[in-house]
Amino acid sequence: MRRRTLLGWGLGAAAAGVGGCATAKENKSDGGLEQGLRAAQTDPVLRKDLIAAPVILKDIDLLRLGAQFWVRVRDQDGAIGVALTNPRLMQSLWPVFLNRVAPSFRGKDARDLEALQAENYRWQLNYKWQGLAYWAPIAWLEFAILDLLGKKAGLPVGALLGGRVRETTGIYYASGNRGNSPEAELAHLQRLVDEAGAKAVKYRLGARLSFDERSTARDLALIPSARRQFGDDFVLYVDANSSYDVEMSLRIGRDLEAHGYGFFEEPVRFDHYEETKQIADALDIPIAFGEEEVSLARFAWLIRHDAAQVIQPDLLFNGGLIRAIKVARMAALRGYPCVPHISGDGFGSLYALHFASCVRNTTPYQEYKGAEDVAHQVTGESGQLKVENGQVRIPSGPGLGITFDSEELARAEQVNAD
Ligand SMILES: [Mg+2]
Repeated sequence: MRRRTLLGWGLGAAAAGVGGCATAKENKSDGGLEQGLRAAQTDPVLRKDLIAAPVILKDIDLLRLGAQFWVRVRDQDGAIGVALTNPRLMQSLWPVFLNRVAPSFRGKDARDLEALQAENYRWQLNYKWQGLAYWAPIAWLEFAILDLLGKKAGLPVGALLGGRVRETTGIYYASGNRGNSPEAELAHLQRLVDEAGAKAVKYRLGARLSFDERSTARDLALIPSARRQFGDDFVLYVDANSSYDVEMSLRIGRDLEAHGYGFFEEPVRFDHYEETKQIADALDIPIAFGEEEVSLARFAWLIRHDAAQVIQPDLLFNGGLIRAIKVARMAALRGYPCVPHISGDGFGSLYALHFASCVRNTTPYQEYKGAEDVAHQVTGESGQLKVENGQVRIPSGPGLGITFDSEELARAEQVNAD
């Protein structure tokens, strides 16, 4: 396997655990890859059979308190499911949620979630709106519905989506800085690592959709100095956020390989598929890719052509856990890991934890951006989500496994379409 680096940063066990994890060559020769890619997209994810009786979506409400928005669903028995949303996105997208997403789900059986999502994609020509603006509202409603279904079944979300395969996960922190000095960035990374005992970290390269002399000097200084600072056993990732051209990607990529980095994320423009593949073909370091991708068919292309080796659907931008799991199934056909990109606000980390709870072929480290300043409690425990020694325990209570402060929810106002 050319991507030997994958095994070098702890993925071996995860990848080996993927059922029927044949190599790409084997799949290509027998046509199994194409068949697998099709099945990954069409086979159901949600275990409807675990919920005995219909769960009719009587109410779908959007609640707002200050900057925060929650989606709350209620069934015919008064059972509820609640999901916190990303406030920066929802403040622009609430009309899409209320006008284009919620109406076609009302009055339907929540156990048919996957069919209802497929129906909504066609409803009112919603597919023409697809991109973050359409898929994020779909994802928020899905999280609330899964919370409700989990509570009805008395099971955590992971059990409904294929079965829990782990109770804890390692995390990595992603630095949001770009343009600061290498010394300042190293000090920042050290703080992130020290606060949570994390064993992995990611930082940014390039100048976001561009690079220049200054950003290149920073990149070439950081790559060896971060390795020196954290030592040979520490897992280091980098994200170029579409900054480079092919030539610069290869130059930086070879430097990353020389210093034992775990992956190289989004080297060239995210929609330049052929160039991404060209870089992946030339380098040994795994190329991480997918946070801007919103099409399962295009994820299939990336995997079919081996253009990326660490697959990163965003849980909001790509439309929720079910679609992310379909992407993970496709990645598994090549033995590749799927690890979601997350937007930190609005409990992005919680949803990523639930993804990790039921997907074998993920990386040992999930991107983590912390718990919110929104009051919450892990079900059955007195505390909130927390990182200890670089690990987080994944909530295991019914649904999403957390409860929100009932007084805060009671004070929140309903947002209406008009
Ligand atoms: Mg990224």
